[in-house]
Amino acid sequence: MDYQKILEDIEQEVKPMLLEGKVADYIPALAGIDPEQFAMSITLFDGTQYSVGKSEKLFSIQSISKVFTYTLALKFYSEEFYGRVGHEPSGDPFNSLVQLEYENGVPRNPFINAGAINVTDALITHYGSSKSAYNHIIEFIRSIADEEEIYLDKAVSISEMEKGYRNISLASLMKSFDNLDNSVLDVVQTYFNHCSIEMNTQMLSRAMLYLANHGLDPVTNKAYISPPQAKRINAVMLTCGHYDASGDFAYNVGLPGKSGVGGGIVAIVPGKMAISVWSPGLNAQGNSLVGTKALELFTTKTGLSIF
Ligand code: GLN
Repeated sequence: MDYQKILEDIEQEVKPMLLEGKVADYIPALAGIDPEQFAMSITLFDGTQYSVGKSEKLFSIQSISKVFTYTLALKFYSEEFYGRVGHEPSGDPFNSLVQLEYENGVPRNPFINAGAINVTDALITHYGSSKSAYNHIIEFIRSIADEEEIYLDKAVSISEMEKGYRNISLASLMKSFDNLDNSVLDVVQTYFNHCSIEMNTQMLSRAMLYLANHGLDPVTNKAYISPPQAKRINAVMLTCGHYDASGDFAYNVGLPGKSGVGGGIVAIVPGKMAISVWSPGLNAQGNSLVGTKALELFTTKTGLSIF
């Protein structure tokens, strides 16, 4: 298959749609991003990469980081973790408080904000401090991306904290139900820090290979998690990776994937490759509008969906 040509065709097809989305202006540091940008990369199991657009441009990975923190949490907590965070789709917006109240402070899944904040809390408990948890998160990301030069954008993290009322509310609500070990502000700050990590589509498509290969990085042969754990993460990506548009993403794209409000999306083709796409304009559910379309075109043109 001529992947380069397929990516180039997709880039041409989505170009007219670039101004249809709306950037994540509820985070002031992301409000000024030019929506007219696009990048897409795929990484195959032998490490070969194909890219189009601004695939070297760094962006805020935001909720894509939730895949990496959930991976670490599953590694350490396994099934005992299910009492703290579930694995059912929420059908609600990513930052909704409503369901959390009537479900007694147990978030539906690790990819909505409440769930990811809870996962971060579990990592702080496991590693002994927020600093150590953050260091382990970023080192894990550097390892799976096989890239040392990955950092957070402090301005984004500070900006998220300044407007962080909703996430602080989610953490406080969980704390009130006794489902948060550490201090609300410490947990939320650590959560914002990992959301503010910057990567590009080349790095992200490389980083996701372990999930396309049962937890084992096919390039370095490093085993990060067990095959059943990889199966679970992929299942949660498929059912919950795009919040209240997860069904839509499965319907149109047909791959396990995860989005972030920075405009990035990652997806995996089991046994074959990992994909990342970036375009900052979002749809109503907070997922990259053009990114979703580009992935739909990719699975339509290649036939590489899981269905
Ligand atoms: N840091 C963002 C927030 O908490 C992450 C949301 C997202 O990417 N969907 O709002």
